[in-house]
Amino acid sequence: MRDCGECNACCKLPGLPEMGKGTWEWCSHCRIGGTEGCGIYDSRPSACSSFNCAWRADDTLAEHMRPDKCRMMVTVEEVHGIQTIIFWPLIPGALAKKDNAELIKTMAEEKVAVVIREPAAGGGHADRAVFARRAGSLVR
Ligand code: SF4
Ligand code: SF4
Repeated sequence: MRDCGECNACCKLPGLPEMGKGTWEWCSHCRIGGTEGCGIYDSRPSACSSFNCAWRADDTLAEHMRPDKCRMMVTVEEVHGIQTIIFWPLIPGALAKKDNAELIKTMAEEKVAVVIREPAAGGGHADRAVFARRAGSLVR
């Protein structure tokens, strides 16, 4: 497992109900931009201590694809019972960056289930299938 270094993208992107944190909101315990990371590291929730994005778990992904560097986080999770690769933009437009768009395209061409997850207008997130083995809306 890789070291996260200065990255703290997962302290912003996923919702964390136990911290009253919605998706795309910085956790109030995150020392944003600092080098100290989590302000409650020793007592952080298990959702945080057990979380690994794809870059951290898979050292075949290039160093520059670390989420804070490429501005995109990748996770693997079950959506409607299907193992799915989720792409989360850290900032608007991040998924269109060359390396990010290429990774999304490669995954879709390999015909694994691929979903783009973006903020929804009314809060939460909306999932858009790029390639899915089961058709249908994934909007939540
Ligand atoms: S997004 Fe990945 S690399 Fe960044 S802090 Fe979270 S687990 Fe570590
Ligand atoms: S509790 Fe700590 S590790 Fe968890 S989201 Fe907040 S700052 Fe990040």
